[in-house]
Amino acid sequence: MIRNQRPFLFTVGFVCLLVLVLSPQAYGQGLFLAGLALTLLSCLPAVLLPWRRFASMMYWLIPLLQFAAIAALRAGGNGYLVGLSLVVVFPVIWLAWFMPRSLAVHIINFTATSFIVILPILLGQGSASFSLEDLAGRAIIPVILTVIGLFAANVSRSIDAQQQELVDKDRQLRLAAAESERRAQLLNTVIETVPVGVVVVDAEGHDMMMNSHQRELHQIGVPREVPDPREDQLLVFGEDKTTPLPAEERPVRRAVKGSSFTHQLIWLGDQRHRRALSVSANSMKDREGSSTGSVIVFSDVTELVEALEVKDEFLQAMSHELRTPLTSILGYIDLVLEEAESLPAAESLCANLQVAERNASRLLQMVTDLLTTAARPALKVREADLAEVVHSSVASARLQADAAGVTLIDGVGPSLRGRFDPDRMHQVVDNLISNAIKYSAAGATVSVDAWHEDRSLHITVTDTGQGISERDQREIFEKFFRTEEARDSAAPGIGLGLNIIKHIVDDHHGSIRVTSEPGRGSTFTVTIPVQ
Ligand code: ADP
Repeated sequence: MIRNQRPFLFTVGFVCLLVLVLSPQAYGQGLFLAGLALTLLSCLPAVLLPWRRFASMMYWLIPLLQFAAIAALRAGGNGYLVGLSLVVVFPVIWLAWFMPRSLAVHIINFTATSFIVILPILLGQGSASFSLEDLAGRAIIPVILTVIGLFAANVSRSIDAQQQELVDKDRQLRLAAAESERRAQLLNTVIETVPVGVVVVDAEGHDMMMNSHQRELHQIGVPREVPDPREDQLLVFGEDKTTPLPAEERPVRRAVKGSSFTHQLIWLGDQRHRRALSVSANSMKDREGSSTGSVIVFSDVTELVEALEVKDEFLQAMSHELRTPLTSILGYIDLVLEEAESLPAAESLCANLQVAERNASRLLQMVTDLLTTAARPALKVREADLAEVVHSSVASARLQADAAGVTLIDGVGPSLRGRFDPDRMHQVVDNLISNAIKYSAAGATVSVDAWHEDRSLHITVTDTGQGISERDQREIFEKFFRTEEARDSAAPGIGLGLNIIKHIVDDHHGSIRVTSEPGRGSTFTVTIPVQ
C-alpha cells in the first residue's frame, strides 16, 4: 500500500527541493519541519502495519496525517508554498475513493482543505488577511477539492458496481460450469450403470459416446478375420439367426438415417457366442429440427428369447401329441353315433354323444390353435378367389349363427381374385366370423364384406355385439389376451385366435385393425396387398 503514497511523497519531495533552493530558511521553521515529520509519519502505518488487519483504520489515518502534513508544510513555507494546497488532492481522492458512500468523508475533505487555506491567515502570515476578497479567493480551493472528492467517490462507486457485476457473473459462470460438470458426471454414472449398451452417434454416424457395456457387446459382433470392421461387416443377423441383416436394415444405419424405433430384434456374433439384442433408437434434433445424431440402446434379451423358443417348442410338441388321440376320439365318437341310432334309447344316447363330440371338437380347435401359434407355418401363396373363401366361411358359420340367434349376412360379390394363401385366409375369415357370433347376444347381426381397391383386398366383419373398450383394443392381438367380458361370459376360447390371424395377415404383408364401441359392436378390417 506504500505504492499508493508514492504520488504524494514524490510531490512533497519535489516541493522540499524547491524550498531548499528558493527558501532554505524554511528548514529552520518548526512548522515546516513538523510538516516533513508528519509526511514521513503518514507513510509509516502503510510500511509497518499489516494492511489487511488494519485496513479500515489506515483508510482514515493516512489521509488525515497527510492533511496535517500539508497544513504544516504550507504554513511553515513562509508563503512560498501556496501551490502546495493542490497536493491536498491526494488525501481528498484517497478518502473519497476508498469510502465512496460516506458523507463524513466529504465533510472532512471540505473542512480539512478550508483549514489548510485559512491556517496562514490564522497565523497572520504575509499578506494573508480576513478580508472578504482574500477569503473568497481562498474558498475556491476547498470547494473545487470537495467537488473533486465527490467526483472520485462517484467514479469509485460505479467501478465498484461494475466489479460487483463482474464478480456476480464470474460466480454464475462457475456455478454453471460446476452444474454442467455435475450433470456430465451423473449422466456418465447412469450410462455406465444401466445394464444395456448405449451408443450415441452424430448425424454422420461417428461414435460420440459408447458405454463399456456396449463396447463388450460390440466385440461379440467383430468377425475374427476383420479386427476393425465397418458397420456392414459386423456379424449382425435377422430374427432367424442366420440371414445377415442388409446394411440399410442394421439398427445403427437406420438411426443415422433419422428413424426412431423400438425393439428391433437382431442376433449379434457367430454361432458360438451369439446374443439376441433388442435395439431401440431415438434421433436427436436441434432447434431448427434437423438431425444432430441418435441415441441407440442395445438390450441383451438372449435368455428371454431362448425361453420363448423353449416354450414354443414345448407347446408345439404337446399340441402335436394331443392332436393324434383327440382326432381318434372324435373319429370313434362319429362311428358310435352312426351305430347308436339303431340302438334302444337312441335319442338320449345320441344327445350325450353329441355333447362329447362338441367338447372334443372344441378341444381339438384349441390344440390346433396352440400348434399354429407355436409353429407359425409358412404361407402357400397362389392365385385364389377371396369371395369363394368368404362364402365358404359364412356357410360353415351359419349353423353357429342360427344356434346363437344371430343374423349372418354375406355381402360379398361373385369374385375377388388375387395371390394369397387361401387356406390361411380361410382361417382368418372363419375366426373373425366365429368371434363376431361368439361375442354377440341373440338378435344381433353379423355382416361380412370384401372388395378390391388400391391393389389390395379388404375384408370387414362387423357385428352389433358386446364391443371392445379402447384399452382392450390395444391388447386383443396379444397371445392369450381375453377381455374381462369374454372371461365372464360362457364363450369358449383361450385368446389365441386374433394373434394367429395377425401373424397370417403380417405374413401377407397386410394389416388388421379394429374399431369398436362397447355395447354397440365391432368392425374388424383386414387388408392384404395383391399384385
Ligand atoms: P378367444 O379365443 O378368446 O376368442 P381371440 O384371440 O379370438 O380369442 O380374441 C381375443 C379376445 O378379443 C376375446 O377373448 C374377446 O375378449 C375379444 N374379441 C374378439 N373378437 C371380438 C368381437 N367381435 N367382439 C367383442 N370382443 C371380441
